[in-house]
Amino acid sequence: EAKRQGSGCRLLFSEDLSASRQQRFAMESRLREALENQQFELYYQPIFELDSCNIVAVEALIRWPQANGEVLMPGAFMPVVEETGLIKPLGDWVLETAARQLKAWHDQGYKLSMAVNVSLNQLHSGCIAESFAALVKPHIDPCWIHLEVTENALMTDPEAIERLLEELHTQGFQLAIDDFGTGYSSLSRLQHLSIQTLKIDRSFINELEKPNSKGAALVSIIQQMAASLNLHTVAEGIETDKQRQILLETAGSNGWGQGFWFSRAIPAQALEARLREQ
Ligand code: C2E
Ligand code: MG
Ligand code: MG
Ligand code: MG
Repeated sequence: EAKRQGSGCRLLFSEDLSASRQQRFAMESRLREALENQQFELYYQPIFELDSCNIVAVEALIRWPQANGEVLMPGAFMPVVEETGLIKPLGDWVLETAARQLKAWHDQGYKLSMAVNVSLNQLHSGCIAESFAALVKPHIDPCWIHLEVTENALMTDPEAIERLLEELHTQGFQLAIDDFGTGYSSLSRLQHLSIQTLKIDRSFINELEKPNSKGAALVSIIQQMAASLNLHTVAEGIETDKQRQILLETAGSNGWGQGFWFSRAIPAQALEARLREQ
């Protein structure tokens, strides 16, 4: 009896596995098709000065519009993109599209910076710094592009990453640590990395308004540390004006932020409308 049950379990398990594998394959081939047919879209979330609330930069965030009108968020498909080799061509498309869009905005007189997310899997092959520069330079000076790498990505093969960031910076790119404070990097590593910006993870911002919040203390410590290391900060996930004001108190006039309170990520046209209003 036990044996039969055991094999029954195994059967169920392998059927399950193949079903989810099939879904993966289906998703992968749909992703390939979408890439070929240029069906991805970049949305842009404004990054604003905490004091003036002027838009000073935008973050490019990928979206996948579906035939039925639904728009898929990166969480729904980026894991598959990451696992397959697709991250390389898609990452290149993101970077070049962002650079071309930024050039158009600069031509219209909006001198913004553009933050672009880069994942660890994009950084594996050789000559990354040169190939990134080759994608961007025909459109705009790389100094306007802020490449965001998550803290955890910095932890795998630290020396190779340090070298790579240096090469990217030599090409003119600005570099930011994304989701700062959630990963496992040690503070001592900050002194070896050629980065200019820390993006304070939204889990801290989320805590700011809670009474006796340790989050507020942590944010203020991160901001002070950043200031003494000559790093810029961007607070992520600002959802209320109160949070903005608390951040402003500790960051002072050169702090930047982004979040739903100001704006979600929106299509290029909608962002242009916001810029015209400003
Ligand atoms: P991220 O780089 O940390 O981007 C910020 C995420 O937080 C975005 O989610 C944004 O919509 C969301 N967000 C912004 N403000 C708020 C807020 O006030 N409240 C809340 N709850 N959320 C807020 P999104 O667009 O779903 O992107 C998720 C992640 O996917 C990004 O996190 C980034 O790691 C990755 N991603 C997005 N686009 C790309 C891309 O083009 N390439 C790569 N490699 N990764 C990307
Ligand atoms: Mg980011
Ligand atoms: Mg982030
Ligand atoms: Mg994040």
